[in-house]
Amino acid sequence: MPELPEVEITVRKLRRKIRGRIVEGFHASWPRQVIPGIAKVRRAVAGRKIEKLGRRGKYIVFHLDDGSFLLVHLGMSGMLYFHEGGDPPAHIRAVWDLDGGSRLLFCDARKFGRIRAVKDLDASLGKLGLEPLSRRFTVQAFQSALQSRSRQLKPLLLEQTVVCGLGNIYTDEALYRARLHPLALSNSLSKTQINRLHQAIVQTLKKAIRLSGTSFDWAYPGGHMQNQLLAYGRTGEPCRRCGRKIARILVGQRGTHFCPACQRK
Ligand SMILES: [Zn+2]
Repeated sequence: MPELPEVEITVRKLRRKIRGRIVEGFHASWPRQVIPGIAKVRRAVAGRKIEKLGRRGKYIVFHLDDGSFLLVHLGMSGMLYFHEGGDPPAHIRAVWDLDGGSRLLFCDARKFGRIRAVKDLDASLGKLGLEPLSRRFTVQAFQSALQSRSRQLKPLLLEQTVVCGLGNIYTDEALYRARLHPLALSNSLSKTQINRLHQAIVQTLKKAIRLSGTSFDWAYPGGHMQNQLLAYGRTGEPCRRCGRKIARILVGQRGTHFCPACQRK
């Protein structure tokens, strides 16, 4: 949390407001969140124009006018706000002063978010897997990535190397929709199951974007997907397909929600 849909909504909201702006200053209060260091990031962004704002997986990508990039990962509770005045939000960890007097704020109660200045985007994000809402995410590409590994589905999807952007919530949702057990092995799936999982990932993410993402009281305000979740957070509640209670197990220390009847191993 936040995952691809919440990051995508953040980028869409900010894009118009910050494109073409000049960064006049940068300040941060928590050194370990800023890589390779606050002073170095300040030097990398000062005087630069923001040419474009994009997204790769769960990363927000600022394209700067000297060909370098600034990556923001929101971690567990990070948010970016365009601030033009009024009461500032809580937990501000970094501030970009923009021309015209507005500011971009990075707020993060739990401090797992990261801000990173990079010159080579591929070297930094090249290990990320297929972008699930891009044309490159075909059933064939997904199939060969799954079959080249022998891994349990839940940890593999969280790892970001097959497909990127899914976190704990949307992985559980996609596996539920696809009727696949979270511990099923990636190279044991039939063509039909791979097709179902492919479709489930795309549909889950698109629906979440349509509903502006998932909000909890401690993270990411403004979303509505939390009311439509089928598996995540529904431990003990009836499965919407078969009525059996949704179970919760730990997979690599992550709470994992699934229907023991619909998602057999
Ligand atoms: Zn069920």
